[in-house]
Amino acid sequence: MSRPTLDGSSDTPAGCVAARGVDGRPAHAAALRFYWGPMDCGKSTMALQMNYNHARQGRRGLVTTRIDRSLGPQVTTRIGLAHEAIEITDEVDLRALVRDAWADGVRVDYLICDEASFYSVQHVEQMAELVDSYDVDVYAFGLATDFRSCLFPAAQRLFELADSVARIQVEVLCWCGREGLLNARVAGGRVVREGEQVVIGDTVDTAEVRYQVLCRRHHRNGDLGPRITVDA
Ligand SMILES: [Zn+2]
Repeated sequence: MSRPTLDGSSDTPAGCVAARGVDGRPAHAAALRFYWGPMDCGKSTMALQMNYNHARQGRRGLVTTRIDRSLGPQVTTRIGLAHEAIEITDEVDLRALVRDAWADGVRVDYLICDEASFYSVQHVEQMAELVDSYDVDVYAFGLATDFRSCLFPAAQRLFELADSVARIQVEVLCWCGREGLLNARVAGGRVVREGEQVVIGDTVDTAEVRYQVLCRRHHRNGDLGPRITVDA
């Protein structure tokens, strides 16, 4: 059984049935697409919608995630959708996931990678190889920047390698009404500027460590705005 090599110079992997065009390239050109936006902008909702749309067309895919809010192997969304997902750890090789599925007779046309900014840079390299050598579409969803407004390493690699990059168009507003762009980490009522790049928190007010989406101006000066109380 043929297997792709790490340098991508292999023949078509087993299970890949790409039709070839006149120039020898696959008629269906797989792509690596990165959709990014701040917290609360609906990334996971869009990821599940994308999965649904492709499944309706008879395509088969795998949904993967890392450190979802639910802390279980599923993608959950703030508007109540959920879908089981494969939890990605540093040890997981995305190419092996696809090969194993194929070996089990399960077709994989695409991957939906939620929370992709928490993946490793190696995972992003594997995504590119899945597109180029396996003809598998990869749709990655994630944050671009961390609480300090610096790119996550995986997000940076996605910006560098992806065939297309799109900012998710659901606007999240800062308390001042400007477009929310950056995630502030809030602890003890103050914006935190130092610490681990990934700390689990939520955007609900009661969380010990929480995140609040701010415009650049208010992210820079750390102004969280007036406390908003929501009637239950
Ligand atoms: Zn603002």
